[in-house]
Amino acid sequence: MFLETKNVTKQFGGLVAVNNVDFSIEKGKINAIIGPNGAGKSTFFNLVSGTYPLSSGQVTYKGKDITKLPSNKIAELGIARTFQTTNLFEQSTVLDNVIVGHRLRTKSNLVDAILRTKRFKREEQKCRDKAMEVLEFVGLTSIADKMAANVTQEEKKRVAFALALATDPEIVFLDEPAAGINPDETEGLAELMRKMVQKGITVCLIEHKMQMIMKLADNIMVLNYGEKIAEGTPDEIMNNQTVIEAYLGG
Ligand code: ADP
Ligand code: MG
Repeated sequence: MFLETKNVTKQFGGLVAVNNVDFSIEKGKINAIIGPNGAGKSTFFNLVSGTYPLSSGQVTYKGKDITKLPSNKIAELGIARTFQTTNLFEQSTVLDNVIVGHRLRTKSNLVDAILRTKRFKREEQKCRDKAMEVLEFVGLTSIADKMAANVTQEEKKRVAFALALATDPEIVFLDEPAAGINPDETEGLAELMRKMVQKGITVCLIEHKMQMIMKLADNIMVLNYGEKIAEGTPDEIMNNQTVIEAYLGG
Protein backbone atom coordinates (compact mmCIF):
# COMPACT_ATOMS: atom_id res chain seq x y z
CA MET A 1 0.00 0.00 0.00
CA PHE A 2 1.09 3.55 -0.72
CA LEU A 3 -0.40 6.05 1.71
CA GLU A 4 -3.02 4.66 4.00
CA THR A 5 -5.06 5.99 6.89
CA LYS A 6 -6.73 3.79 9.45
CA ASN A 7 -9.41 5.00 11.89
CA VAL A 8 -8.04 8.51 11.57
CA THR A 9 -9.87 10.82 13.97
CA LYS A 10 -9.58 14.47 14.97
CA GLN A 11 -11.57 16.13 17.70
CA PHE A 12 -11.65 19.84 18.37
CA GLY A 13 -13.17 20.01 21.83
CA GLY A 14 -16.57 18.41 21.45
CA LEU A 15 -16.51 18.48 17.66
CA VAL A 16 -15.38 15.39 15.79
CA ALA A 17 -14.05 16.96 12.61
CA VAL A 18 -12.69 13.69 11.17
CA ASN A 19 -14.22 10.46 12.40
CA ASN A 20 -12.57 7.06 11.94
CA VAL A 21 -11.58 7.56 8.34
CA ASP A 22 -9.92 4.71 6.44
CA PHE A 23 -8.55 5.78 3.10
CA SER A 24 -6.00 4.34 0.69
CA ILE A 25 -4.31 6.64 -1.73
CA GLU A 26 -3.47 4.85 -4.94
CA LYS A 27 0.02 5.37 -6.28
CA GLY A 28 0.26 7.09 -9.64
CA LYS A 29 -3.40 8.05 -9.61
CA ILE A 30 -5.50 11.15 -9.09
CA ASN A 31 -7.30 10.65 -5.79
CA ALA A 32 -9.99 13.10 -4.75
CA ILE A 33 -11.79 14.05 -1.58
CA ILE A 34 -15.15 15.74 -1.86
CA GLY A 35 -17.87 16.69 0.57
CA PRO A 36 -19.91 19.65 1.77
CA ASN A 37 -18.30 22.60 3.56
CA GLY A 38 -17.12 21.71 7.04
CA ALA A 39 -17.03 17.99 6.20
CA GLY A 40 -13.47 17.65 7.49
CA LYS A 41 -11.59 17.60 4.19
CA SER A 42 -8.92 20.16 5.05
CA THR A 43 -8.58 18.70 8.53
CA PHE A 44 -7.92 15.31 6.94
CA PHE A 45 -5.08 16.88 4.94
CA ASN A 46 -3.78 18.52 8.11
CA LEU A 47 -3.62 15.12 9.79
CA VAL A 48 -1.95 13.28 6.94
CA SER A 49 0.66 16.01 6.45
CA GLY A 50 1.45 16.31 10.16
CA THR A 51 0.12 19.87 10.40
CA TYR A 52 -2.16 18.74 13.26
CA PRO A 53 -1.63 15.77 15.57
CA LEU A 54 -4.24 13.02 15.32
CA SER A 55 -6.64 12.39 18.19
CA SER A 56 -6.46 8.71 17.28
CA GLY A 57 -5.80 6.43 14.35
CA GLN A 58 -2.84 5.69 12.16
CA VAL A 59 -1.22 6.93 8.98
CA THR A 60 1.24 4.74 7.10
CA TYR A 61 3.33 5.65 4.11
CA LYS A 62 4.94 2.88 2.09
CA GLY A 63 4.50 0.61 5.07
CA LYS A 64 6.09 3.03 7.55
CA ASP A 65 4.08 4.44 10.45
CA ILE A 66 4.19 8.23 10.09
CA THR A 67 1.36 8.98 12.52
CA LYS A 68 3.47 10.85 15.03
CA LEU A 69 6.02 12.46 12.74
CA PRO A 70 6.19 16.26 12.63
CA SER A 71 5.30 17.97 9.36
CA ASN A 72 8.91 18.67 8.34
CA LYS A 73 9.80 14.97 8.66
CA ILE A 74 6.73 14.02 6.67
CA ALA A 75 7.74 16.51 3.97
CA GLU A 76 11.21 14.96 3.86
CA LEU A 77 9.65 11.60 3.11
CA GLY A 78 8.23 13.04 -0.11
CA ILE A 79 4.78 14.17 0.97
CA ALA A 80 3.96 17.75 -0.05
CA ARG A 81 0.83 19.81 0.33
CA THR A 82 -0.77 23.11 -0.57
CA PHE A 83 -3.12 25.11 1.62
CA GLN A 84 -6.57 26.40 0.77
CA THR A 85 -5.09 29.90 0.70
CA THR A 86 -1.52 30.47 -0.37
CA ASN A 87 0.26 33.25 1.45
CA LEU A 88 3.09 34.57 -0.66
CA PHE A 89 5.63 37.22 0.24
CA GLU A 90 3.86 39.90 -1.74
CA GLN A 91 6.85 42.21 -2.05
CA SER A 92 9.10 39.46 -3.42
CA THR A 93 9.21 38.01 -6.90
CA VAL A 94 7.53 34.76 -7.80
CA LEU A 95 10.98 33.19 -8.21
CA ASP A 96 12.14 34.34 -4.77
CA ASN A 97 8.98 32.98 -3.20
CA VAL A 98 9.75 29.56 -4.62
CA ILE A 99 13.45 29.80 -3.69
CA VAL A 100 12.64 30.70 -0.11
CA GLY A 101 10.07 27.92 0.15
CA HIS A 102 12.64 25.49 -1.16
CA ARG A 103 15.61 26.75 0.86
CA LEU A 104 13.76 26.02 4.08
CA ARG A 105 14.41 22.42 3.22
CA THR A 106 18.06 22.51 2.20
CA LYS A 107 21.13 21.88 4.27
CA SER A 108 22.69 25.33 4.55
CA ASN A 109 22.85 26.50 8.13
CA LEU A 110 23.00 29.98 9.57
CA VAL A 111 26.79 30.01 9.84
CA ASP A 112 27.08 29.04 6.17
CA ALA A 113 24.68 31.85 5.30
CA ILE A 114 26.49 34.53 7.31
CA LEU A 115 29.92 33.56 6.04
CA ARG A 116 28.53 33.00 2.55
CA THR A 117 30.60 29.87 2.35
CA LYS A 118 31.16 28.01 -0.90
CA ARG A 119 28.66 25.51 0.33
CA PHE A 120 26.09 28.24 0.84
CA LYS A 121 26.62 29.64 -2.64
CA ARG A 122 26.42 26.21 -4.15
CA GLU A 123 23.17 25.54 -2.28
CA GLU A 124 21.84 28.91 -3.36
CA GLN A 125 22.46 28.17 -7.01
CA LYS A 126 20.87 24.77 -6.63
CA CYS A 127 17.77 26.34 -5.06
CA ARG A 128 17.55 28.82 -7.90
CA ASP A 129 17.87 26.13 -10.55
CA LYS A 130 15.27 24.00 -8.83
CA ALA A 131 12.89 26.95 -8.51
CA MET A 132 13.24 27.76 -12.22
CA GLU A 133 12.69 24.11 -13.09
CA VAL A 134 9.41 23.89 -11.17
CA LEU A 135 8.25 27.28 -12.44
CA GLU A 136 8.77 25.99 -15.95
CA PHE A 137 6.85 22.83 -15.12
CA VAL A 138 3.84 24.83 -13.91
CA GLY A 139 4.03 27.22 -16.87
CA LEU A 140 5.20 30.34 -15.02
CA THR A 141 8.66 30.96 -16.47
CA SER A 142 7.50 34.23 -18.02
CA ILE A 143 6.39 35.69 -14.69
CA ALA A 144 9.33 34.48 -12.57
CA ASP A 145 10.46 38.06 -11.98
CA LYS A 146 7.01 39.47 -11.36
CA MET A 147 6.18 40.78 -7.89
CA ALA A 148 3.95 38.28 -6.12
CA ALA A 149 1.53 41.09 -5.25
CA ASN A 150 0.80 41.49 -8.96
CA VAL A 151 0.04 37.92 -9.99
CA THR A 152 -3.47 36.76 -10.90
CA GLN A 153 -5.47 34.30 -8.83
CA GLU A 154 -4.76 31.57 -11.35
CA GLU A 155 -1.03 32.28 -11.35
CA LYS A 156 -1.09 32.18 -7.56
CA LYS A 157 -2.57 28.68 -7.74
CA ARG A 158 0.27 27.64 -10.02
CA VAL A 159 2.84 29.16 -7.65
CA ALA A 160 1.31 27.03 -4.88
CA PHE A 161 1.86 23.96 -7.07
CA ALA A 162 5.45 25.08 -7.72
CA LEU A 163 6.10 25.45 -3.99
CA ALA A 164 4.86 21.92 -3.40
CA LEU A 165 6.82 20.50 -6.33
CA ALA A 166 10.09 22.16 -5.32
CA THR A 167 10.58 19.47 -2.68
CA ASP A 168 10.51 16.71 -5.33
CA PRO A 169 7.54 15.01 -3.71
CA GLU A 170 6.21 11.55 -4.48
CA ILE A 171 2.74 12.64 -3.49
CA VAL A 172 1.07 16.05 -3.39
CA PHE A 173 -2.02 17.03 -1.44
CA LEU A 174 -3.81 19.93 -3.12
CA ASP A 175 -6.48 21.74 -1.11
CA GLU A 176 -9.10 23.20 -3.47
CA PRO A 177 -6.64 24.15 -6.20
CA ALA A 178 -9.37 25.39 -8.53
CA ALA A 179 -11.30 27.58 -6.09
CA GLY A 180 -11.90 31.08 -7.37
CA ILE A 181 -10.76 30.63 -10.96
CA ASN A 182 -12.72 30.40 -14.21
CA PRO A 183 -13.55 27.24 -16.20
CA ASP A 184 -10.73 27.68 -18.74
CA GLU A 185 -8.21 28.20 -15.96
CA THR A 186 -9.66 25.21 -14.13
CA GLU A 187 -9.09 23.05 -17.20
CA GLY A 188 -5.51 24.34 -17.32
CA LEU A 189 -4.93 23.25 -13.74
CA ALA A 190 -6.51 19.86 -14.42
CA GLU A 191 -4.07 19.49 -17.31
CA LEU A 192 -1.22 20.34 -14.94
CA MET A 193 -2.35 17.68 -12.48
CA ARG A 194 -2.39 15.10 -15.27
CA LYS A 195 1.13 16.20 -16.15
CA MET A 196 2.20 15.64 -12.53
CA VAL A 197 0.86 12.11 -12.66
CA GLN A 198 2.70 11.48 -15.93
CA LYS A 199 5.85 12.56 -14.15
CA GLY A 200 5.22 9.88 -11.54
CA ILE A 201 3.73 12.06 -8.83
CA THR A 202 0.66 10.82 -7.01
CA VAL A 203 -2.04 13.44 -6.58
CA CYS A 204 -4.67 13.79 -3.88
CA LEU A 205 -6.93 16.79 -4.18
CA ILE A 206 -9.86 18.35 -2.43
CA GLU A 207 -12.25 20.00 -4.83
CA HIS A 208 -15.72 21.45 -5.02
CA LYS A 209 -15.97 21.61 -8.78
CA MET A 210 -17.82 18.39 -9.52
CA GLN A 211 -17.48 18.51 -13.28
CA MET A 212 -13.74 18.76 -12.95
CA ILE A 213 -13.50 15.97 -10.37
CA MET A 214 -15.69 13.61 -12.34
CA LYS A 215 -13.46 14.01 -15.39
CA LEU A 216 -10.17 14.03 -13.54
CA ALA A 217 -10.23 11.66 -10.57
CA ASP A 218 -9.54 7.94 -10.62
CA ASN A 219 -10.76 7.42 -7.08
CA ILE A 220 -13.01 9.58 -4.91
CA MET A 221 -13.70 9.59 -1.19
CA VAL A 222 -16.76 11.45 0.06
CA LEU A 223 -16.72 12.96 3.54
CA ASN A 224 -19.78 14.23 5.37
CA TYR A 225 -19.72 15.48 8.96
CA GLY A 226 -16.25 13.99 9.36
CA GLU A 227 -17.22 10.52 8.20
CA LYS A 228 -16.43 8.68 5.01
CA ILE A 229 -19.83 8.01 3.45
CA ALA A 230 -18.66 6.64 0.12
CA GLU A 231 -15.64 5.79 -1.97
CA GLY A 232 -15.31 4.75 -5.57
CA THR A 233 -14.89 5.74 -9.17
CA PRO A 234 -16.61 8.91 -10.46
CA ASP A 235 -19.40 6.76 -11.92
CA GLU A 236 -19.97 4.94 -8.66
CA ILE A 237 -20.01 8.18 -6.69
CA MET A 238 -22.42 9.95 -9.03
CA ASN A 239 -24.90 7.12 -8.69
CA ASN A 240 -24.52 6.62 -4.95
CA GLN A 241 -27.78 7.35 -3.12
CA THR A 242 -26.10 8.30 0.18
CA VAL A 243 -23.91 10.82 -1.63
CA ILE A 244 -26.83 12.33 -3.51
CA GLU A 245 -28.74 12.73 -0.25
CA ALA A 246 -25.75 14.30 1.55
CA TYR A 247 -25.49 16.93 -1.15
CA LEU A 248 -29.18 17.57 -1.74
CA GLY A 249 -30.39 17.05 1.80
CA GLY A 250 -27.59 19.06 3.49
P1 ADP B 1 -13.73 21.33 5.00
O1 ADP B 1 -12.33 21.52 4.57
O2 ADP B 1 -14.32 20.03 4.58
O3 ADP B 1 -14.62 22.47 4.59
P2 ADP B 1 -12.60 21.56 7.67
O4 ADP B 1 -11.73 20.37 7.77
O5 ADP B 1 -11.94 22.86 7.43
O6 ADP B 1 -13.76 21.31 6.60
O7 ADP B 1 -13.43 21.69 9.02
C1 ADP B 1 -14.13 20.60 9.58
C2 ADP B 1 -14.74 21.04 10.90
O8 ADP B 1 -13.69 21.23 11.85
C3 ADP B 1 -15.48 22.37 10.82
O9 ADP B 1 -16.60 22.31 11.65
C4 ADP B 1 -14.46 23.36 11.31
O10 ADP B 1 -15.09 24.48 11.90
C5 ADP B 1 -13.69 22.56 12.35
N1 ADP B 1 -12.30 22.97 12.48
C6 ADP B 1 -11.35 22.95 11.52
N2 ADP B 1 -10.16 23.37 11.99
C7 ADP B 1 -10.37 23.68 13.30
C8 ADP B 1 -9.51 24.16 14.34
N3 ADP B 1 -8.21 24.40 14.13
N4 ADP B 1 -10.07 24.36 15.55
C9 ADP B 1 -11.37 24.10 15.78
N5 ADP B 1 -12.22 23.62 14.85
C10 ADP B 1 -11.74 23.43 13.62
MG1 MG C 1 -11.42 23.00 3.47
